[in-house]
Amino acid sequence: MSPVRGVVRKIDHLGRIVIPVEIRRVFGIVPGDDLDIALSSDGVGITVTKVENTCTICAGTDGLVEFKGKLLCITCRRSMVATLPMSTPPSPQNITGVG
Ligand SMILES: [Zn+2]
Repeated sequence: MSPVRGVVRKIDHLGRIVIPVEIRRVFGIVPGDDLDIALSSDGVGITVTKVENTCTICAGTDGLVEFKGKLLCITCRRSMVATLPMSTPPSPQNITGVG
């Protein structure tokens, strides 16, 4: 059985290759997407994986916001806020008037 071979492309003098349009379509790769390029697990090849911008906790994509280098979706942020202890309103004795 012969090894599976994909599309053959030449690398240019700057180290660039063009990912075939058919593959870009299959994986939904569009200009500006981040791609993770790494050695394959057996160390004899290269893998290219589209980096999906998803929530660190649930992999959701709605309302993503970066917090300390991690992406969080709106649902997870709301859940986190809901688990925070409620702030205690100041007691009347601690309120000092101005003037
Ligand atoms: Zn989430």
